[in-house]
Amino acid sequence: MASADIGLIGLAVMGSNLALNIAENGYTIAVHNRTASKIDDFVAMAKQQGLDQKVVPEADLVQFIQAVKRPRSIIIMVKAGKPVDEMIEQLLPHLEAGDAILECGNSLYTDSQRRYEYLKSKNIGFLGIGVSGGEEGARHGPSIMVGGPEQQWKNAQPILEAISAKFNGEPCCAYLGEGGAGHFVKMIHNGIEYGDMQMIAETYGVMRDGLGMNPAAAAKVFKDWNQGPLNSYLIEITGYVLEAIEPRTGKPLVELILDKAGQKGTGTWTAIAAQQLAVPATAIEGAVAARSISSRKEERVAAEAAYGKPSAGKADVSLDDLEQALLAGKIVSYAQGFAVLSKASEEFGWNLPLATIAKIWRAGCIIRSRFLDQMSAAYAKGGATNLLMVPDFVTIMQDAHKSLRKIVAAGAIGEFPLICLSASLAYFDSYRQAQGTANLTQGQRDFFGAHGFILTDREGEQHGKWPSTL
Ligand code: NAP
Repeated sequence: MASADIGLIGLAVMGSNLALNIAENGYTIAVHNRTASKIDDFVAMAKQQGLDQKVVPEADLVQFIQAVKRPRSIIIMVKAGKPVDEMIEQLLPHLEAGDAILECGNSLYTDSQRRYEYLKSKNIGFLGIGVSGGEEGARHGPSIMVGGPEQQWKNAQPILEAISAKFNGEPCCAYLGEGGAGHFVKMIHNGIEYGDMQMIAETYGVMRDGLGMNPAAAAKVFKDWNQGPLNSYLIEITGYVLEAIEPRTGKPLVELILDKAGQKGTGTWTAIAAQQLAVPATAIEGAVAARSISSRKEERVAAEAAYGKPSAGKADVSLDDLEQALLAGKIVSYAQGFAVLSKASEEFGWNLPLATIAKIWRAGCIIRSRFLDQMSAAYAKGGATNLLMVPDFVTIMQDAHKSLRKIVAAGAIGEFPLICLSASLAYFDSYRQAQGTANLTQGQRDFFGAHGFILTDREGEQHGKWPSTL
């Protein structure tokens, strides 16, 4: 007898927390995991939290499916990639028309698009759902980005909205479009997260290498900034990370952490998607490149020996300039991320609601910030697709770009790297330059390849009469 409102497969960290969140919101949830002992562990955990009455554990996959009320919504939260396809194949023979699989892992949007089309041909709905906020978010309220068939979204909507984070009472959960739209938006969220994190790290680099500040002093500045326009989860945790002391040595923990950044690939996916769509996303690309350079520690050590170590503490910049520069870099990075969303929406026919996306990122996810509230309000007014042309942000950038310029110049002179902030500045300068230099590029292209060019005072494509030899 079906008794569960929803089902969930995959009781590792993310799945367990999501299931507890669903139970805590008053819904009955059937749970299943390939390794049955993990189901017992989960039930014990649910019992400890007084939620076991809302849990229907099923070690047998067919009985698990039958325990869920029709039309079924079944979440899969297993390892991304092949396991998701294997799970879909196991479920398929036992599902009925109108049922839906809700895939909530970190999947590539093209995989979600493929799975959506495959299941559509079998009358089963496939929702590719981006869930942001890590373990804590899954348990107490993540940001939820949904893509797939609208009918099956409607079936699951009350549960997904109930378990999502709330900003001023509004759920950080939305239906964004067909097919892979949800996972595409989640991918861009992660790309923007890379940019935010890298620009914060570069700002810490200016404090350390340009201004000679210690971690405790830098922590205090980030805590102050968290009271202003940069207020965000990532600025907040930066303050905590910088002030932490390693108990064995009594030294600042951050100075003992190896400077090699890990990555799971979503930043690279964003950079590739941006390139494929021909949308410049240089700040995000810079952030991915910075992580890759960081991983080449031995090469960097050897190169420093070859070129010498710049002396620290000489930058002639103020902390106010640094705050404004970070804000300007962030605006450019978000402008790029949203420009990718806008182009993808057009290209894939998704009709992505940009203001809503900014809204559902205001809480629950890693990039949550005060800035996104301002951004969603600005996008809601309509008009511009690039954030750099939204009037409220034009006003901010008119002053903030001057500080970004000072900081990037200080990095160039002081010989400390600002890969992401300088990419933001170069994008800004290119974007707002009415007369660029591509006229020369077009001349060169015509010279060696007869690609043609347009003359500004004449209609139609032209060719130059170039000398046949140089
Ligand atoms: P995970 O370590 O990625 O995967 C473990 C789960 O997958 C276990 O339940 C495991 O079952 C199951 N599994 C693996 N291969 C399987 C197969 N072939 N058939 C059936 N089940 C299989 O778990 P996770 O860390 O909780 O992550 C789940 C998803 O969320 C992933 O896509 C991950 O990338 C994503 N994620 C998102 C965030 C976020 O912040 N949004 C954070 C972390 C992870 P057994 O117990 O039987 O091995």
